[in-house]
Amino acid sequence: MQSKRHRHYALVPAAGAGSRMGKEIPKQYLDLLGEPLLRHTLRTLCQAPMIDRVYVVLSVGDPIWNERDWSDLGEKLHPLYVGGASRADSVLNGLRAIRGDAGDGDWILVHDAARPCLAQWHIDTLISTLDDDEVGGILAVPVADTLKRSNGHGRVEKTVPRDSLWQAQTPQMFRYIMLRRALETAREVTDEASAIEAAGLHPRLVQGDTTNLKVTYPLDLHLAEWILKNREA
Ligand code: C5P
Repeated sequence: MQSKRHRHYALVPAAGAGSRMGKEIPKQYLDLLGEPLLRHTLRTLCQAPMIDRVYVVLSVGDPIWNERDWSDLGEKLHPLYVGGASRADSVLNGLRAIRGDAGDGDWILVHDAARPCLAQWHIDTLISTLDDDEVGGILAVPVADTLKRSNGHGRVEKTVPRDSLWQAQTPQMFRYIMLRRALETAREVTDEASAIEAAGLHPRLVQGDTTNLKVTYPLDLHLAEWILKNREA
């Protein structure tokens, strides 16, 4: 007998101001190949056959979302106007808002709005690797560069061995109830995995690649454009 398939819900925090971009418009709405950056992110998630629904967490008074037409992305897409003061708050508010839809055992894939170069194979690899996992896990890449810790005055204090170090990306995929409990407890975290770790668990590292970059600084927008253009070609 086939076991009940737990659903997969994407939750996309998109309530940040993106101040490091130095632009007035929040970075999720910046133009990337003629469309808002956020649209690239949401399209990939909405097109993923394994993802049942895509929730996008917007800031409470988001003035831009409704000015655009998102209907071509289909019925999976649901905006939630519940953004918080930090990324973790936005994710937690989103989890609270979808309580009626998501069951305890359903998978939540939290993905930064600011990672528009997510590819279908990233999602497929993550889901197929983790579907039977007890804890869940994250997309990540092994650190390639030698790492230095600064002494705070522009000089090296020491070299940090890079063996075993990975750069965390998103999506980060955990069961609804585990993630919600972890975030209710650990609020000062910059990603979901940190909250799970604080609960004493060990999220699995699923290797992705560096094309899934986070747009933080203006140069990143050009890199994202290059990646998307060349992927299409
Ligand atoms: O600023 P940063 O790049 O770390 O933001 C990562 C993601 O978290 C972005 O998609 C951003 O929109 C989102 N975020 C949020 N609510 C906040 C801060 C950031 O949804 N208060």
